[in-house]
Amino acid sequence: MMKVSVNGYGTIGKRVASAILAQPDMSLIGVSKTSTNYEAYHAQRLGIPLYVPKESIKEFEDAGIKVMGTIEEMFRDSDVIVDATPNGVGAQYKQVYSSLGKKSIFQGGEKANVADVSFSALCNYDEAVDKKYVRVVSCNTTGLLRTLCTINRVEKITKVRATIVRRAADPKEVKKGPINSLTPDPASIPSHHAKDVNTVLKDLDIVTMAIVAPTTLMHVHMLNITLANQVTREEVLSTLSSTPRILLVSGKSKITSTAEIIEVARDIGRSRNDLYETVVFEDSVSVKGNELFLMYAVHQESIVVPENIDAIRAVTGFRDGLKSVEMTNTSMGIRK
Ligand code: NAD
Repeated sequence: MMKVSVNGYGTIGKRVASAILAQPDMSLIGVSKTSTNYEAYHAQRLGIPLYVPKESIKEFEDAGIKVMGTIEEMFRDSDVIVDATPNGVGAQYKQVYSSLGKKSIFQGGEKANVADVSFSALCNYDEAVDKKYVRVVSCNTTGLLRTLCTINRVEKITKVRATIVRRAADPKEVKKGPINSLTPDPASIPSHHAKDVNTVLKDLDIVTMAIVAPTTLMHVHMLNITLANQVTREEVLSTLSSTPRILLVSGKSKITSTAEIIEVARDIGRSRNDLYETVVFEDSVSVKGNELFLMYAVHQESIVVPENIDAIRAVTGFRDGLKSVEMTNTSMGIRK
C-alpha cells in the first residue's frame, strides 16, 4: 500500500483525496487544513484525518475539529505527498518535502521547473516512473495534451492553433469575475498554454489564444490541427471513442452545451458533478485536406484528478502506464 497525503484541501485537493480513498493500492494518511472552514468540517465527517499547522491546533480543537497532528508529522508518515496548495505555494513547500526525502506531486499552478517532469498520463507516463518530483499540468493543458496525444496516434501532428475559452471562476469562488465581459487573458499571443504543452510535447508547433468567459462550469477549446497526411473524420472519431478519458457527445442526444454536460454528470450521480473526461462535441469534428478541426469541453475542477492518481503510481515505480490508467478509471467509475 502506498501511503499518500494531500497538502492543501481545496478544489483539487479534496477531489484527489476522495480518489485516493477509492484506490485499492493506496491509503490516505490525511489531509492538511489551514482554516476551520466548511471543508474541514466535511473532511471530519468523512473520517479523513486532518493535520494542521502547529500554531493552529488550538483553534481547530476550539472549533470542534479533531486534529491528528501537525502538517509536518503528516509528511513524515507519507511515501508520497500530493501538493494541491495555491499557485506558487507548492514551490515553497518543495524544500520541506526535499528535506524529508519525500516524493511529491505538484499541480499546474506551479512553474514547470518545480518538478523533474511535467505529466499527462496518456502522453508521457513512462517519463515519470521513479521520478522524485512530478508536476501534473493544469486543467487546460491536460485537455490539450490528452487530445493531441490521441490524435497523434491517428496521424502525426505538424501544427496546432488553439483557442481556449476559459471559465472565469470555479463555482465556489465568490469574489472572482468577470461577470459581464469576455476578456482576452492574456491579450498577448501565445497564451501560456502553448508553452505548457511544450513541457511535454517538446517539439510541437503550437500557438494558443485564451479568452475568459463569465461561466463557472467548464472550459471549451477550439482546435485547428494540421496533420502530416490526410485522415478521415471516421478514423478520428473511432480513435477518440476508443480512448480512455475521452467522451463524445452529439447533437443527437441534445447535449449541445457545457450546461447540459454538467447536468449529465449530475444525472449519472458523479461525485461533486465531476467529469474527469475530455468531452468532445462529436458534431464539431471535421476534416478539410490535412487539417482537422474539433471543439471539446474541460471540467476544470476534476480533469486533473485521475492524472494525479497515475502520477502517484508512476513515482512509486509502477511501470505499466496503461494498467495504471485502467485501475484509476475502474476505481473512479470512469467508463466508456
Ligand atoms: P484552492 O484555493 O481551491 O485550494 C488550495 C487549498 O490550499 C485551500 O484549501 C487553502 O486553504 C490551502 N492552503 C493555502 N495555503 C496553504 C499552506 N501554506 N499549507 C497548506 N494548505 C494551504 O486551489 P485549487 O483550485 O485547488 O488549486 C490548487 C492547485 O491546483 C493550483 O496549482 C492550481 O493552479 C491547480 N489547478 C486548479 C484547477 C482549478 O480549476 N481549480 C484546475 C487544475 C489545476
